[in-house]
Amino acid sequence: MTPEEFRRIGHQLIDWIADYRSSIDEFPVMSQAEPGSIRASFPVTPPEVGESLDASFINDLDRIILPGITHWNHPSFFAYFPSNASLSAVLGDLLSTGLGAQGMLWQTSPAATELEEVVVDWLRQLVGLSENFVGVIHDTASTANLVALLCARERSTNYSQSQGGLQAEQAPLTVYTSSESHGSVEKAALLAGFGRVNVRAIETDDEHAMDAIALERAINFDIERGLRPCAVVATIGTTPTSALDPLHKIAQIARSHNLWLHVDAALAGAAMILPECRSMWAGIEYADSLVWNPHKWLGAACDCSLYYVRDPEHLIRVMSTNASYLQTAADGQVKNFRDWGIPLGRRFRALKLWLLIRSSGAEGLRDRLRRDLKNAQWLREQVDSTPNWERVAPVPLQTVCVRHVPPGMTPDEVDAHTLDWVSRINRSGKAFLTPAKLKGRWMVRVSIGAEPTEDHHVEALWLLMQREAECQ
Ligand code: PLP
Repeated sequence: MTPEEFRRIGHQLIDWIADYRSSIDEFPVMSQAEPGSIRASFPVTPPEVGESLDASFINDLDRIILPGITHWNHPSFFAYFPSNASLSAVLGDLLSTGLGAQGMLWQTSPAATELEEVVVDWLRQLVGLSENFVGVIHDTASTANLVALLCARERSTNYSQSQGGLQAEQAPLTVYTSSESHGSVEKAALLAGFGRVNVRAIETDDEHAMDAIALERAINFDIERGLRPCAVVATIGTTPTSALDPLHKIAQIARSHNLWLHVDAALAGAAMILPECRSMWAGIEYADSLVWNPHKWLGAACDCSLYYVRDPEHLIRVMSTNASYLQTAADGQVKNFRDWGIPLGRRFRALKLWLLIRSSGAEGLRDRLRRDLKNAQWLREQVDSTPNWERVAPVPLQTVCVRHVPPGMTPDEVDAHTLDWVSRINRSGKAFLTPAKLKGRWMVRVSIGAEPTEDHHVEALWLLMQREAECQ
């Protein structure tokens, strides 16, 4: 494709995206595609001869691709978690790809490294973290959780990776996290070689947050058995209910046993741009590492995850490799971000954060998040004051977890009823919600925070929920 063809088709594509976003509420929120139906629309073999990407390509977007899209940026998207792709961030991603720059070393594009330093520090300031933390952009929180546990492992074993690794250790290392933590934490522990039998799922309290007493008990029990406690992963904003682990208490326990403390605030980190929310992660200053995802609620478009550490030298020692062809004259004066994470090649993700923050301003971002918190509190009040509806968890952030319990139903019948009404809503295309299990029973999560979701969308959702759940 020549630059001229790119200009022509690119303009059409930008128009198409702008039209899509301005009419997004006309689509069913969850894709109604049948399994395999999208694949069947494509030729089985690749085209032998190239074609001009003109009208036929745009046509295929409408005809084949759009029906297979679940619209995360739809105002009635209340499923999983908000994963906003603000249009300013979309431009940043386009620019990143258009420049085609690799940010693996400072030398491979100094702007990629230095803008990353700038925006990661802006966001450090915006969430109220002290200058003791230095950050880097990773793709996802799953990657950051893995990096954190690799760093924890290496600190506990005095850099075993450069000797016999975990296989040469005298006693197993153990990791602690709550039973409500995200699956990526356990996955990270398994990938980092701790072994499933050495990962403790600490029980939660009535608010679904880690029970700090149970944590201390588990650590002491393991020490008595000759095991070596290594790391605690606390969650601020758990995936099912956005519960807040008691970070201050957990930090004290971690310190007294010299454990690595990693904080997974994948969704909730964005809320810390609001000073009134920061008490939710009181104790964060004691963390060795933390992650939060601007690609969720903030709007930075997937993928864009921020990983902050207090000891970057340790991170670099764990992550660096030393191939001769990657050495440069600037080493020692600059950051080479390939040494701050797992991949060598790195996209210029800082551009989308830069454009997002430039375009919205901190004030615009704060206003939007406050709107969503207010909408969540409104829904909480409706649920609390309506007969036969139960709120099954506190609402510290933007997720409201509910159950409709008609009189006389057994718990098993309520489970079936819950799955029934939520799937009717999802199939209708009018809204999209996620059912999830909490302490063994089904409930429905209403996750508010898609960028275009206003109060009237939440009001319409509540009417729809009542209609579908109450008309059994
Ligand atoms: N941690 C928490 C608390 C989450 O809620 C999620 C995703 O929902 C993740 C980690 C994983 O995030 P990512 O998709 O960036 O790996």
